[in-house]
Amino acid sequence: MIPAQPKRPTAETKSELSALPEQIRAWAKELGFAALGITTADLDSEPGSDLDHLDNWLAAGFQGQMGWMADQRELRARPEALHPNTVTVISARMDYLPEPQEIMQANLDDPDRAYISRYALGRDYHKLIRKRLQKLADQIEAAVSALGYRVFCDSAPVLEKALARNAGLGWIGKHTLVLNREAGSWFFLGEIYLDKILPSDPPQTREHCGSCQSCIDICPTQAIVAPYKLDARRCISYLTIEHRGSIDEELRPLIGNRIFGCDDCQLVCPWNRYAQPTQEADFSPRHGLGNATLIELFAWDEATWDERTKGMALRRAGYVGWLRNLAIALGNAPSSENIQSALAARKNHPNEIVHEHVRWALSRHSE
Ligand code: SF4
Repeated sequence: MIPAQPKRPTAETKSELSALPEQIRAWAKELGFAALGITTADLDSEPGSDLDHLDNWLAAGFQGQMGWMADQRELRARPEALHPNTVTVISARMDYLPEPQEIMQANLDDPDRAYISRYALGRDYHKLIRKRLQKLADQIEAAVSALGYRVFCDSAPVLEKALARNAGLGWIGKHTLVLNREAGSWFFLGEIYLDKILPSDPPQTREHCGSCQSCIDICPTQAIVAPYKLDARRCISYLTIEHRGSIDEELRPLIGNRIFGCDDCQLVCPWNRYAQPTQEADFSPRHGLGNATLIELFAWDEATWDERTKGMALRRAGYVGWLRNLAIALGNAPSSENIQSALAARKNHPNEIVHEHVRWALSRHSE
């Protein structure tokens, strides 16, 4: 039996297609994206390539409990395996910096206040960006014949940083995030996989980290074990958000007051001097979470947590994770009667993970 032929990308005239990228960029601007680039769906697997880097990272076990990183390796490596007939990828950037960096730094430097990664203070970016990408895809679909596409924002196995770099949006810094000379790194990425060949943008081929290694030096847990190599098992973002269960006692004092994620490598990066605050009101901090005290947040019962974190990426760690992380931060805060009584009030928490971290925190205040 003759196997079915894969669907071929439909062909517009060359001049129609060559005009399309500029039109797409204009639509993206109207939808609130700061930049957009177009690249092919091919990812190289040669030694030293992005896929080689991914395989080495997985082989080292740096993914920790994120087993899906290995399970979905093939889908990540081959865009057409994730969405059939994908030949082109649009990568789009949306900035999220909600406030000047000095304000964030002041919050981080106050050990009685909770530090929450700035991307998680406002509305959940996944939905917002996917909706905007869908609108953009609708506009593209109306302009070309028979378009097959799928939109993504941190929701599926997509090698988003390599694709963003290939689309010319920036280079991958030593901290492993994408950064850009004009915009720094405080941005989300989203993608549209397309079955239509569009003219590609020039990839970013130069890196501009130079001899700087500030992000490596500042990392509180030394999770950037070498330039471009992050051991997630030590990374505070992973530990406070993705990791379930007990956090290694050796790492707890290094977490400080960071209760959800960590921005240190971005805060120190010289390229972020050029980062502009977001235009997106939805990314503004909710419920005063930009500088709330540890005690105040630790007092939230589950119903309050559930109600206040609705529609926020902040929910990802769950309520147990929320209390666990706050207990660690309270254990790291300067001793006070208020902190000790806040911890004592949860000393007999029925959840074993919370209970264990509260006991640890109390022991720090009786040393
Ligand atoms: S802090 Fe320095 S090394 Fe790290 S990403 Fe920024 S420029 Fe590169």
